[in-house]
Amino acid sequence: MGAQLINGKDIAQSIRKELKEKVSQLEARGKKPGLAVVLVGDDPASAVYVRQKKRACKEIGIYSEEHHLPEDISQDELLTLVDRLNKDPNIHGILVQLPLPEGLDETEVIDAIDPRKDVDGFHPINVGRLHIGEKGFVPCTPAGIIELVRRLEVPISGKKVVVVGRSNIVGKPTAALFLRENATVTICHSRTKDVFEECRQADILVAAVGKPHMVKKEWVKPGAIVIDVGINRIDGRLVGDVDFDEVKEVAGAITPVPGGVGPMTIAMLMKATVAAVE
Ligand code: NDP
Repeated sequence: MGAQLINGKDIAQSIRKELKEKVSQLEARGKKPGLAVVLVGDDPASAVYVRQKKRACKEIGIYSEEHHLPEDISQDELLTLVDRLNKDPNIHGILVQLPLPEGLDETEVIDAIDPRKDVDGFHPINVGRLHIGEKGFVPCTPAGIIELVRRLEVPISGKKVVVVGRSNIVGKPTAALFLRENATVTICHSRTKDVFEECRQADILVAAVGKPHMVKKEWVKPGAIVIDVGINRIDGRLVGDVDFDEVKEVAGAITPVPGGVGPMTIAMLMKATVAAVE
């Protein structure tokens, strides 16, 4: 293998260790961070994510509570819960696990979260803050991506970054964060004319598409940093958007799937919850 392996699992673990330390210092000052996770319905993938988040809270010493609501809950009942959590002094972070079941208005629910408790960084106030360069909560997966690249200790400023995918959860905020770090950023999406040619130019390539093994060796400039956000299941096995086995031969550094970006997402959520108290 030519590329340096970016071990997100180990990096996430060391962030969690640092946070544990911070939480015990906060507790000594009488402050305990609290995270409320709202899960609506019985989507199995969402249930797994919620379990992982609860486990991470427990390990770090963050108080967590789960509100598991039935699929047929009304919009009003859900908004009432969000309002109650907004007012609860023991809760510093509120996370509504997406996607919500059909019939519920996701945008209205996100808008109802107090931006000061919006640890997922999806509220339009926090989205706006990110784009105008003000401090605020940043979506956790993009925050994890930047953290992984920062830890490589190669300057981001002036680099050409290509982000494939323009979702509000991953692609767009990732591009905004790299722009904030003074990179030159290109965003590709399903209507981009020649994704391959764009990717070939990248010093840092982020794939957030949801198409297994889409990024091939020929798409990658030799020595580039390749961040694979994709989580795809093939015959029960997790694979990324990057064809890891061939791309690792040309890339300078690469994240594996699993064990790359995934564990960072939860670590950054924990970090945001601790920051919400501070
Ligand atoms: P979305 O489906 O919301 O967005 C996918 C994006 O890819 C869209 O912008 C779409 O373009 C673009 N796209 C689709 N096909 C192509 C193509 N052929 N060429 C170029 N662009 C294309 O997905 P998410 O952003 O939510 O997630 C992306 C991946 O990351 C998924 O595999 C998901 O599971 C994973 N993920 C991983 C996380 C982690 O913690 N590691 C967290 C969140 C997501 P258009 O806008 O034009 O439709």
